[in-house]
Amino acid sequence: MIGIFLTLACILPYNYEIVCEGKSILIEAVKVDFQDYVPLKSVADLIGANYIYDNNTQRLYLTMQNRQLEIIGNVPVIRQNAVYKNMPFAPLYIAGDIYFPVHEIIPTIGTSLDKLMFIKEIKEAPLIDDIELVQKGDSTILRFSWPRTIDFDVQFLMKKAIIEIDGQYPRKPAPKAVGAVSHVQVLPYTTYTRLELDLAGVNAYLERGTEVIFYHKISHTVNLIVIDPGHGGIDPGAVGKKGLYEKDANLDIAKFLRQYIEDSLGIRIVMTREKDEYLSLKARTNIANRHSADLFVSVHCNASGKSSKMRGFETYFLSEARTTEARAVEALENASLKFDDIEPDDELTLILYDLAQSAYLEESNLFAESIQDHAKSHLSIPSRGVKQAGFYVLRGAFMPAVLIECAFVSNLEEERMLKQKSFRRELAVCIFRGIKHYIVDYERRLNN
Ligand SMILES: [Zn+2]
Repeated sequence: MIGIFLTLACILPYNYEIVCEGKSILIEAVKVDFQDYVPLKSVADLIGANYIYDNNTQRLYLTMQNRQLEIIGNVPVIRQNAVYKNMPFAPLYIAGDIYFPVHEIIPTIGTSLDKLMFIKEIKEAPLIDDIELVQKGDSTILRFSWPRTIDFDVQFLMKKAIIEIDGQYPRKPAPKAVGAVSHVQVLPYTTYTRLELDLAGVNAYLERGTEVIFYHKISHTVNLIVIDPGHGGIDPGAVGKKGLYEKDANLDIAKFLRQYIEDSLGIRIVMTREKDEYLSLKARTNIANRHSADLFVSVHCNASGKSSKMRGFETYFLSEARTTEARAVEALENASLKFDDIEPDDELTLILYDLAQSAYLEESNLFAESIQDHAKSHLSIPSRGVKQAGFYVLRGAFMPAVLIECAFVSNLEEERMLKQKSFRRELAVCIFRGIKHYIVDYERRLNN
């Protein structure tokens, strides 16, 4: 267990907490022209960088393995390895140290020296009274007690659940592992508390008030489907030559689809978005997991950078992308990641997310086939078949999940069709029939 245990009274002179690889420092900032500057000596110590300050030239050299950053006091230029870069600010020379704007620490120093850091402003962090784990029937419940509601966030990595709580849990013992949780680690930082739970046999979870419930779901019926209209807000998705935004077509098709399913199957639908708003990819699967959805359907339209002749309807389920074409589509859809603060090439994260989905690979494949079969027989555009790709949005979903590419925004004829309500309805009807067929089949298989 690592962390700095201080009570609120004595952390008040500090303004920021910086966390790197499980270690953390509290740091006092100096305000200049409404900007908060922090001293770099303690940041260098935290990340394990070599700190050499030349008092005569007011030059600071931060080095780490073969990476070097040269910072000059009161000059708006820094040197990264051998390259000089102009900066929109000048680092400050104060009493034998260089001060840097706190918001530039991660983009400039973290990136140059390849260190992952988190910075949180110290406000009055609320106190968590207690964290406990209890077993109730088949569920393992993580329960928080606090005098007033504190925000928390749940993520899954491989067989771990990571829970970050925006509150302090100083000097308290870790809850005892029970049920599906085999080990608990508590990282009590000053501005937040991070819990890492090792899980066994868990494939679903629910958040309910002050509880996170982990369990193994054995579902024999489909009760809830999450429909995810791709892109939205600042992320338009593919843009057609005649001005069609993919995000708008996706939303419309998804709304028709919701209506058909609710009207004739009576299954509950949750939409990841109902209007033109931006949503991170992680938020989309989180919605599905939080509602313990039985199926996840992401609705997109395609685009090809290579050929404006490409056209047709295709359905994807998750796996590693196999063909070059599948890779290209994946790269395009995953381009949304650039709005999400996650590097698309963060291979490790993607592989870890993969594992949550792998249990559902076979079902997802059958689900995709059922939708694609109906496209073949019911649509006026070509059927391109079922494909496999490593879409980020499908990773981390604890249920059969597919991503549909309805038609090509990059094809003039299909762009024209996609602009029409009647074609959007036609696409929704086709997807609806595929879903209905899959559900009947799925429930028959599970109940026999
Ligand atoms: Zn898309």
